[in-house]
Amino acid sequence: MDEVKEGKMMEKLPPQNPDSNMGDYEKAYSTFSWDDAEKTFEWSRTGKVNAAYEAVDRHVRTLGDRVALHYLDDEKEEKYTFRELSAASGRFANLLQDLGIVKGDRVFIFMPRSPELYIAFFGILKLGAIPVPVFEAFMRDGLLDRMGDCDPVAVVTSDTLKDRVPKDEIASLKHVIVSGDTSGDEISFDEMRSKRGEFEPVWLDLEDPLLIHYTSGSTGKPKGVLHVQRAIVGHYQTGKWVLDLRDDDNYWCTADPGWVTGTSYGIFAPLLNGVGTIVRKGRFTARRWYETIERARVTVWYTAPTALRLLMGEGEEVASEFDLSSLRLIFSVGEPLNPEVIHWARRVYTQPIHDTWWMTETGMIMISNYPSMPIKPGSMGKPFPGVEAAILDDEGRMLGVNEVGNLVIKKGWPSMMKVIWGREEKFKEYFRFDPWFLTGDAAYMDEEGYFHFHGRVDDVINTSGERVGPFEVESRLVEHPVVVEAGVIGKPDPVRGEIIKAFVVLKRGVDESEELKDELIEFVKKGLAAHAAPREIEFVKHLPKTRSGKIMRRVLKAKELGLELGDLSGAGEGV
Ligand code: AMP
Repeated sequence: MDEVKEGKMMEKLPPQNPDSNMGDYEKAYSTFSWDDAEKTFEWSRTGKVNAAYEAVDRHVRTLGDRVALHYLDDEKEEKYTFRELSAASGRFANLLQDLGIVKGDRVFIFMPRSPELYIAFFGILKLGAIPVPVFEAFMRDGLLDRMGDCDPVAVVTSDTLKDRVPKDEIASLKHVIVSGDTSGDEISFDEMRSKRGEFEPVWLDLEDPLLIHYTSGSTGKPKGVLHVQRAIVGHYQTGKWVLDLRDDDNYWCTADPGWVTGTSYGIFAPLLNGVGTIVRKGRFTARRWYETIERARVTVWYTAPTALRLLMGEGEEVASEFDLSSLRLIFSVGEPLNPEVIHWARRVYTQPIHDTWWMTETGMIMISNYPSMPIKPGSMGKPFPGVEAAILDDEGRMLGVNEVGNLVIKKGWPSMMKVIWGREEKFKEYFRFDPWFLTGDAAYMDEEGYFHFHGRVDDVINTSGERVGPFEVESRLVEHPVVVEAGVIGKPDPVRGEIIKAFVVLKRGVDESEELKDELIEFVKKGLAAHAAPREIEFVKHLPKTRSGKIMRRVLKAKELGLELGDLSGAGEGV
């Protein structure tokens, strides 16, 4: 990573909203302090902390009739005011309490997007228990790894997903709460209806847990990233200054709450700012999404590059069938955002797109193009006030302008992960250059202070904005009876960013065939998750390995892309 980028002065787009909540970026950056941001929370006066109270209950007195949750699907639309969401989540908290669930217990949420998911989420938080939302596409093995890691006492699920819950294999799991049809000793979600809506939140400390999100690394099982209550200071402030949320906004974040964007920005940031959140169920189609913008009169839209590229691929005609004139700001996260998409959006939606950069571990937006600052297409933007970002070389030395290196963030922002559940060593790896947090991304900073994404430093795959660990996919593939070993890489793709490609070594005597490739893809889909299934499989006789026997994925990738193989001094067999 000793590449130096040419100091090119890229064209910038004028600020979208110079009168935004943040106002002048440089001024905000030089004067902001996190301590000031805390003053908006009631705990700063009462000393009593609970994120559900700050996001929902606190608003009942002043904004009780404002819509907090606006749910839409193909058939119906449901709206919950702050008052209704407070009461419904209070009932759910009472249900959990009656089951004996207490502060600190882990409760999985494994549900399709629905009002029940959000009610459960806040019910769990009110009790001081720890919600662990998991994306609905995960299958049994995916759940088993995650549940087996942090020993939940309960899971809240739906009748459509409950069969995937590995009940008998998780000893700690005492309660399965099901929305829809129940059987056996499952508890019906509807039991909450008979409970009281009043529930005094369990008061916590700022450093007490808020939630856990599982995410992937390049080695080992998924990591349980634990955030603490204090994180909501970051959600609130970035909601106000990046998303520029205002009282009259209709705000739609398209991410599922199984991923961090779906909680930090699909739940906390809007509600903490007293703004409702729009939730749309159903698979992505251009028409369904445009229809959501039209029906809900979306003003601020937070989405992902893959979705935007797909929308662009569907063409202008589809967009022109809908009234998208309500949109005032568009944001994106998760993958590199191509400048073409920004220019296209500017023409077709009459709005550019503001790229934002952050990750599960950071809990909130770290770097962004702000509504009051010129957008630089192709750049992730500048660090949020109160956040210090830099580029270090592999020895931890600070690099200069336009030099590519490790993107790092100085410790001390409120939503930084607190621990990796049960894995202190993994946590320490992020702080090799303490006090800098090592993101795992390579980037550079240009002469104007804008940061540019360059790639991942490790083997983590980013497919359609979803982070997939190659190890998890390889482990699933080798469970198949004909597979000896597998190496998995991300292969560049114009729409999805990357697709998953697997190199598979078959047992001796097994015939290679297209049918077998399909079977292996299905095997990963059914066992792990559809989004983690390879799109391409190649049968090989052996995999490149280091002398100690580790699969050299970078060699697989370099060969796939026809690139130079780089330093092979540690290589052993099969290179
Ligand atoms: P996750 O933890 O699943 O949110 O994934 C975080 C990773 O997504 C980062 O480490 C980056 O590799 C990638 N990522 C997030 N935002 C951006 C962005 N704006 N541009 C490029 N890559 C991004």
